[in-house]
Amino acid sequence: MNPERPTRLTDKPRSQVWRTLVQERPILRRLLSPTGLKVVFCLAVIVLACNAFLSFQQNGPHPLAGATQVAASYEVAPRPAHIVIPANGPPPTSQPQSPGLVGQAIQIDQMTLNIDPGLYSGQGNAISSRLNTAFRDVLANFDQKVAPVLGRPRVPIPHLEVRFVRDDNCALAGSTYDEARVILVYTCNSIDPSRAINILAHEYVHQLAFENFGPRASRSDLLLVEGLASYAAGKYWLGQYSSFHNLVRNQRASGISYRLSEDYANRDVSVMNAIYYQWASFVEFLLTDTRYSQRFADLYTTGDNSIGSANYVRLYGKPLEKLESEWEAWLNAP
Ligand SMILES: [Zn+2]
Repeated sequence: MNPERPTRLTDKPRSQVWRTLVQERPILRRLLSPTGLKVVFCLAVIVLACNAFLSFQQNGPHPLAGATQVAASYEVAPRPAHIVIPANGPPPTSQPQSPGLVGQAIQIDQMTLNIDPGLYSGQGNAISSRLNTAFRDVLANFDQKVAPVLGRPRVPIPHLEVRFVRDDNCALAGSTYDEARVILVYTCNSIDPSRAINILAHEYVHQLAFENFGPRASRSDLLLVEGLASYAAGKYWLGQYSSFHNLVRNQRASGISYRLSEDYANRDVSVMNAIYYQWASFVEFLLTDTRYSQRFADLYTTGDNSIGSANYVRLYGKPLEKLESEWEAWLNAP
């Protein structure tokens, strides 16, 4: 199973992503200045004229779709997205029916929620309320368990757009476009909204990590990136368990165990989930042990996004394998 999602954002958020990118990137502002636009226009005329000429030579005239292509070329690179089904998450609950705002933007504090037309019809208000509660819960969890390692107050998220995307293949998945502050959750009507909100809780931590550890954090060691997002999602991922320590110990007791450096690419989703839980408990271990928590923020901004790539030796004085042994001893302790 390929965990990567398509890079293209759908139409509704694309315009907002584009505006955000323009505001944040000086090169785009320069390109969109009167002089920049003239240069771009001249180049575009040349390219389109050549394209039209060549196309006409081969196929006869056809309509050009330049605007869409230009916008698409500036889309932000996607974060590593994933299909996550918290096996121990809260059981599905029946949703109260309420007047729907489906297909419209729902404003929630600093967020805008969009639900695709035809998805969770009549449940827009109930979902927005639960989403708001989930984000407050995750924020409180982040403040309590992660923010202390920052050594400064937590940075708030300026504005966030959340979109429930109707996925006809019914693959529950999330993507966080952290630079653009857009979170997409792919779901369908046969998936209980509470499971989509569990995914959102995890994605929200990715955004908090971006705001607080900086843009470099998006490319950190994958096991820390996903471990932190799962860990700080707290009860939305823990289900019946009180800690990831207990969850993973139980997981291992049932014979499910992987090395910390093990990759989940192209493997069953159950393997991926088990690995995510292990990574969450490893982050829990690092954040609750004062030998490691004090330099966690520095560690989090090293690495190249590959698994195990953070500079454990420089920050902690020992390689990942040694830390893994300590983590396993911690797991086995009462
Ligand atoms: Zn993630």
